[in-house]
Amino acid sequence: MESFEVHEHDVLVIGAGGAGLRAAIEASAMGCSVGLVTKSLLGKAHTVMAEGGIAAAMGNRWPEDNWEVHFRDTMRGGKMLNNWRMAQLHAQEAPERVMELEDWGALFDRTDDGLISQRDFGGHKYARLAHVGDRTGLEMIRTLQQRTVQLGIDVFMECTVTDLLQSEGKVSGAFGYWRETGAFIAFEAPSVVLATGGIGKSFKVTSNSWEYTGDGHAMALRAGAKLINMEFVQFHPTGMVWPPSVKGLLVTESVRGDGGVLKNSEGKRFMFDYVPDVFRGQYAQTEDEGDRWYTDPDNNKRPPELLPRDEVARAINSEVKAGRGSPHGGVFLDIASRRSPAEILKRLPSMHHQFKELADVDITAEPMEVGPTCHYVMGGVEVDADTGAASRVPGLFAAGEVSGGMHGSNRLGGNSLSDLLVFGCRAGLGAAAYVTGLGDRRPTVDQDVVDAATATALRPFELEGGENPYTLHSELQQTMNDLVGIIRKEAEMTEALTKIDELKERAQHLVVQGGREFNPGWHLALDLRNMLLVSECVARAALLRQESRGGHTRDDYPAMDPAWRQKLLVCSGTGDGPVKVEEEGMPPMRDDLAALFQKDELKKYLTPAELANVPDAADAKES
Ligand SMILES: Cc1cc2nc3c(=O)[nH]c(=O)nc-3n(C[C@H](O)[C@H](O)[C@H](O)COP(=O)(O)OP(=O)(O)OC[C@H]3O[C@@H](n4cnc5c(N)ncnc54)[C@H](O)[C@@H]3O)c2cc1C
Repeated sequence: MESFEVHEHDVLVIGAGGAGLRAAIEASAMGCSVGLVTKSLLGKAHTVMAEGGIAAAMGNRWPEDNWEVHFRDTMRGGKMLNNWRMAQLHAQEAPERVMELEDWGALFDRTDDGLISQRDFGGHKYARLAHVGDRTGLEMIRTLQQRTVQLGIDVFMECTVTDLLQSEGKVSGAFGYWRETGAFIAFEAPSVVLATGGIGKSFKVTSNSWEYTGDGHAMALRAGAKLINMEFVQFHPTGMVWPPSVKGLLVTESVRGDGGVLKNSEGKRFMFDYVPDVFRGQYAQTEDEGDRWYTDPDNNKRPPELLPRDEVARAINSEVKAGRGSPHGGVFLDIASRRSPAEILKRLPSMHHQFKELADVDITAEPMEVGPTCHYVMGGVEVDADTGAASRVPGLFAAGEVSGGMHGSNRLGGNSLSDLLVFGCRAGLGAAAYVTGLGDRRPTVDQDVVDAATATALRPFELEGGENPYTLHSELQQTMNDLVGIIRKEAEMTEALTKIDELKERAQHLVVQGGREFNPGWHLALDLRNMLLVSECVARAALLRQESRGGHTRDDYPAMDPAWRQKLLVCSGTGDGPVKVEEEGMPPMRDDLAALFQKDELKKYLTPAELANVPDAADAKES
């Protein structure tokens, strides 16, 4: 076996997006030596693409807003499948995390009286997204990155981790390669925080960046951790549909938050026809009322264009299916007729630039064509809400999109950036405390485990006449798009699983041309191992859940079923055989949190037996 560099740290953070940076900062502040690995460049993680803002109940525009309202909105958005403890911590701690960003130098847009500006987004009762135009992710990454550099954290850029290392059942480090040279690298670290983001590159039409190959999800699974909620994949309602080269690219929800409306080919604002029963009473029934809500949310209901994303995506899908779509298979998103060009240019500069440059559409004068795009995975590593510790694997922590539970079956816009800050910080603390608790009982790296990781990474160079990774990737993306996409059916998901099995078998015979120096074919061959595993988790869990809820819509089970509200689907498996999916009961919501809802509303979600245990205080009037 060849020799390669080895680095030692107390805490290794894999991923330098919002979650990874925040975790690294916290672990470093606790006195740990921290290594931060990213397969792209520092400052270029997927978080940089975030547009609309960070959800936090700061009450800057609406003093009525507070953590309890944010908690309720988040639970409703997730259709009550959220880990309620995570939703509580998130709503309570997000404002402090945003203020801290400002202390570290982030320059947010301001209200007229000089406070951090907050904008409207779907599913949020009040305007609560702290933002910087529609380039919030850039400012967040810039600020966290500077803090990381200031603290002297060791950063390993363009370095991909392929496997976690374990000895005696505990995490002992990680193994990977430099993308430029192909040379291997190992990290000895008793505590590893996964912050690797999502899985969207397994789908053909997606808003996600090239980094989203589900590496952290798959590594955690192979290490023995559990993945929960993998059936819930968010299709953002508004991605570009034209031209084909940019199909799927995100059109931020801020367009609707700032007044944009959805219309079909007949010019009708169709969302009024798609308000589901659980949200009836919370959304406007007329265009006039919806329009008044932007300036007076206390006396009017919000427009249905701002329903949670799953509802809007399904509605667009139905309009297109009914033959009322736009010329390129989407619907129209119109802000031009609703706001002045100056306002649009001030609040949505990136959207204006994106459409002008890529589609030759001037959004201050014409409507955009938009349709659903795979955007976010609610599923991920099951973690302890307070510390970010992954279940079953001592020394493993996870935060951000790679973790599961916080968003239940559907994430509200803006709740990811706040999730990264709140749980990135908590995972950093959790990882540091774990290392301290180990004392001198640190696991050592086992040479056999490193040798096995090396052999796996080199395998694609050793075969001849096998499969091309690009062909397999494209077949996987098509399969997930067509058969496990926005509307799901039993027969199609069964077909998808057969296809994934076939692809897994063919992936044993992948070959790559050339050497190890910057070789994208090799990188893809290694990423495919992860994409196939997480795709199998998504398809198997989706087949089992016989109801429609949030980001999981079954054509054959179109309604939400209260019996499923208490169940999580948990994936486990080493990657060698089929993924195992089991049902796990959810603990009932704590009384004081349940009491934040009106009992009548809870009736829409809970079983009669559950409802009987909810205290009567739950009739309290909402603020
Ligand atoms: C266009 C767009 C706009 C969005 N706008 C918003 C918004 O306005 N508000 C909001 O709340 N959410 C938004 N989101 C969602 C949000 O941006 C993401 O969910 C969030 O940024 C994920 O952050 P993260 O820290 O978990 O992962 P990321 O920021 O993706 O970081 C993952 C890191 O892990 C690294 N990595 C991955 N695999 C490996 C590996 N094997 N080895 C080494 N490193 C690895 C990557 O290189 C990267 O550094 C948006 C998403 C998109 C696509």
